[in-house]
Parts: sequence; structure tokens; C-alpha cells
Amino acid sequence: MKLIYDLTCSELANLLKEWDEPAYRAKQIWQGLYQHLYNSPEQFTNLSKPLRQKMAENLNFMPFTVKVNQDSSDGQTRKTLFELRDGNLIEAVLMRYGDPADNPHPNPSPQNGRGASRRTLCISTQAGCAMGCVFCATGQVGFKRHLSSGEIVAQVMVYAQMLKQQNEAVSNIVFMGMGEPFHNYENTMASIDRLNDPDGYNFGARRFTISTVGLVPQIKRFADEQRQVNLAISLHAADDESRVEMLPINKRYKIDQVMEACEYYVMKTSRRVTFEWALINGINDTPEVAKKLAAKLRGLMCHVNAIPLNPTAGYNGKATDRQRAILFKETLEQAGIPCTIRMRRGIDINAGCGQLAGAVSE
Ligand code: SAH
Ligand code: SF4
Repeated sequence: MKLIYDLTCSELANLLKEWDEPAYRAKQIWQGLYQHLYNSPEQFTNLSKPLRQKMAENLNFMPFTVKVNQDSSDGQTRKTLFELRDGNLIEAVLMRYGDPADNPHPNPSPQNGRGASRRTLCISTQAGCAMGCVFCATGQVGFKRHLSSGEIVAQVMVYAQMLKQQNEAVSNIVFMGMGEPFHNYENTMASIDRLNDPDGYNFGARRFTISTVGLVPQIKRFADEQRQVNLAISLHAADDESRVEMLPINKRYKIDQVMEACEYYVMKTSRRVTFEWALINGINDTPEVAKKLAAKLRGLMCHVNAIPLNPTAGYNGKATDRQRAILFKETLEQAGIPCTIRMRRGIDINAGCGQLAGAVSE
């Protein structure tokens, strides 16, 4: 059965035409799905019973089952394990920052869900990942398959539906769950287009962030498309010798090629690039490495997001402590490169960056 979230608005319109329904029905269904966040045909009470019946017989509203919901001990982070119809497992994580009472809004929507309180949703683009980064739990699992655009969209809809019941909304979407979004380029972009549709969910382009391990041709393609979506590059090392040990993709695309693609991106979009850096004790957190990194990034409109490494079963590097992290940040900033040290979230439920492995329990 076709997944309803896999359809573009015009594909839905074509389907309804085949069903001999008037054109405005497609719009009603689109609005029901993406504005009212309905998740089953029965909820479309503005449609005739036979049409709802036809939808139920021909369209699937849920591409997976929720296998487990896990909340962190502080209640601010929730991880969901989804089982896809073919048995593959993917995960999504919601991170709450601030209290919605800090930023009350009588009618929460993706548009006004931002401000003092944020609801950042981290979603998957693939089951597993082919890139094999050594410190990443998904990389340790290996590649299973690409997700369809609808399977990506559905992760957002499930959380949007859940938050709506609490009078809240998703405010930011990051493609930092399982998988490499640029390895599944078409479906990832199709999911953004669907969620971005002003007649549907209307989620602003600037509130998406794509994180990539550094696939150079796709970075250039993305630059050419001039989307307003934020771009983050997982760098983690300042020279090829150390990077290739952590990120095998560096055999194919060297740091200087990634840098050149980033310069092209900034030139095309006038947008800043974020570099991600998992701080690993004694490996990439020394002032010497920070200086080397600053030299690589000099002149590029960018920002470094450093996060102490999260523990994973298959890698025995240790997280950098706070003091060393601050020294790293200060060294970078003295060399003119802005840096933020990110808080680790959801570690107690293995929901931190790179901890998603699609396992029910370890
Ligand atoms: N495949 C994409 C997006 C998913 S990973 C990418 O690699 O960018 C999201 C981020 O988590 C990446 O920056 C990745 O390098 C980082 N990451 C992976 N494993 C990690 C770990 N164990 N600790 C901290 N960050 C990690
Ligand atoms: Fe894949 Fe990103 Fe993990 Fe590397 S860090 S294995 S690219 S998910």
C-alpha cells in the first residue's frame, strides 16, 4: 500500500483525479495531513464516508510502528525507536530547550514554535549508514537501506502530532539521526520540500539543518540549489592522516576538497557553514589541533560546534572534559574562529549524537 507521506501534493491530486474526485479534495486532504495533523482516514470528517473508506483501503498512514519511547531522566529528551514495515529499525530524538511558558503562544505552529523554548527534532534519513565512522554507533551497524521521503516526513509528523496534544510544536529539524543525508540526497530534499510547502506543514527552510560527513559533489549540488537550509559538516580532524582514521570517507574526499566545496557553498548562498567536532580526549582536543583547525578555516564564513564525544560500544575513545573543551574553544576563538561547546543530551538513553544504533537495548 502506498504511504500517503510519500506523495507530493500534485501526485495526491492525480490520484484523486483517478478516483473521480473533484480537485479541491486533494487540498482538503493535504491540509488535513499537514495542517490539522490527522493521522488516520476517520479523522477527515470533511470528506465523504466512501472517500475515507477508499483512502483506508489504498493509502497507508504509518510506515512504521513505534517500538519504544524512552525519556531521559530529566524528561527533556525523548527517543523513539521505529520499526519499519520491512523490519529495519530507525530512531528519532526530540530535545526540549526551555519551558514553553517562557514563550507562550496561544496557537502554536511550526512558525511560532521558536523563541526562548525550542523543540528540536533529530531525524533519520537511512536505516544504518554506509560511511563507517568509527566512533558512531550507526556507522558501527553498517548500511541497511535508504528511507523514502515519506518515511522521513512521517518521523516529523509523529512528533508533531504528539506535541500538538501538549499545545506545542516542533521548532527545528536536524538531519542528524541515523544515516548520511547526502547519500540519500533525492529523498532527503523531497522530504524538506514536502515539509516546507506553504500550503501544508509550512516549516521554514531556515529551521532545517542538514549534517553531512562531507560528500563533496552533493555539497556543491546543494550549494547550486541555493536552499535556505543550514549546512553542517562533520569534520572532527584538521589533517587527512587523522581524519581518515576516524572517517573512512576521507579516503575519497580530502579535507581540502571539502573546504573548497564549503567555500563554493558560502559563495553561492552567503550562508555560514557549521563544522561539527566531536571532542575526543587526547586525540583532537589539544590546543595544537585547535590551531591547525583555525588555519584550515581562516577566511571561511563558519562556526565550529564542538561536542564532547558520546560513548558508543564499538569505540574506546573518551570524551574531553569540560576544562579541555573550554581551552579548545578559547584557542579557536583567539585565532578568530567562533566556537560553541554543545551540551550533551539524552546520554542516559543513548540518544546523544552518534549513539543511535536501532537496538532495543544494549
Ligand atoms: N551522517 C551525518 C549526520 C548524522 S551523524 C553526519 O555524519 O554528519 C550527526 C553528528 O553526530 C555528526 O556530526 C557525527 O559526526 C556526530 N557523531 C557521530 N558519532 C558521535 C559520537 N559518538 N559522539 C559525538 N558525536 C558523534
Ligand atoms: Fe554515518 Fe554520520 Fe555516523 Fe558517519 S557519523 S557513520 S556519516 S551517521
